[in-house]
Amino acid sequence: MAKRDYYEILGVDKSASATEIKKAYRKLALKYHPDKNPDDAEAETKFKEAAEAYEVLSNADKKARYDQFGHQAFEGAGGFGGGGMNMDDIFSQFGDIFGGAFGGGGFSGFGGGFGGGQRRVKGSNLRIRVKLTLDEIANGVEKKIKVRRKVQASGTTYKTCTTCNGSGQVTRVTNTILGRMQTATTCNVCGGSGQIIDKKPDEADANGLLSKEETVSIKIPAGVVDGMQLKVSGKGNEAPGNGVSGDLLVAIEEEPHETLQREGDNLHYDLYVSLPDAVLGTSKEIDTVTGKVRIKIEAGVQSGKILRLRGKGIPSINGYGKGDLLVHVNVWTPKTLNKQQKEFFESMREDEHFSPKPEKSDKSFFEKVKDMFS
Ligand SMILES: [Zn+2]
Repeated sequence: MAKRDYYEILGVDKSASATEIKKAYRKLALKYHPDKNPDDAEAETKFKEAAEAYEVLSNADKKARYDQFGHQAFEGAGGFGGGGMNMDDIFSQFGDIFGGAFGGGGFSGFGGGFGGGQRRVKGSNLRIRVKLTLDEIANGVEKKIKVRRKVQASGTTYKTCTTCNGSGQVTRVTNTILGRMQTATTCNVCGGSGQIIDKKPDEADANGLLSKEETVSIKIPAGVVDGMQLKVSGKGNEAPGNGVSGDLLVAIEEEPHETLQREGDNLHYDLYVSLPDAVLGTSKEIDTVTGKVRIKIEAGVQSGKILRLRGKGIPSINGYGKGDLLVHVNVWTPKTLNKQQKEFFESMREDEHFSPKPEKSDKSFFEKVKDMFS
């Protein structure tokens, strides 16, 4: 199923401000809200779609990645995958969106549709860096990484919060010149979850959590870029009680390759050939990200010649094709000569045949670039 463009879903254009994006989402969330559209699968899909679009476009970092890479920016490593956001994620957004409008009471704006204003506490996100070789980036890789995360200690039990009686909210009555005002705020004893710890093992922290080392498997799609961040949903710290786990945010770090330089999806390789090889022609084995390949060097090759190996670069993160490998030919000039070698080159110099007579196709890379702009 092709995913719709996030801007299209929210009905805003790419230059929309954060306020416009928020406003557009708010309108859609109210229109397609499950409380208003019970048992309407289409409304639910639209509701989820809008939430996902907002989740990305309301975050400067995610928005930038989406603008650059499209939906692919969040796929392959957890992300939204095909499943989209779950309802818990969506409702945890609402604090930001509707909090102000509905007196800070979280979801109470929807007539108490969600357990009378309870909010599910979210565990904190974890951040790690993953170093990848160029070969791993080119082919995609599954990494098993040890992560220390907080998990619920077994043996922890919960009971209803006595401060808010499990509602997650406390109501405060204040007298103002306009009369008595009733405001609902999140219960600060249970954090809005409506639950507090009853019993917990001694080694657990105040939230009933334990720090534990776990191995997390992270699927990294081909074509990732240094500095890019992937999200593995639910692999951050767990939350107490019925809360939802945070996410694991994976920052990509590209290790330099010994012989290949990356430029976007293209790769560059500096090939050095000897004077006799340049004159007589030869074949050379060169490194690529999928192993070594042998390439033919024509007799009479010039220094600065670029050989383009199509599709031997990095796959595009968007899934459209691959970059090329550009082999730059450098003719290696000996720096020292013995007497006999010197005489040999002296005699060559006298021969008119060896004086340069460049043709258009022999022009160096920079001259070709100049030609393109003139
Ligand atoms: Zn409470």
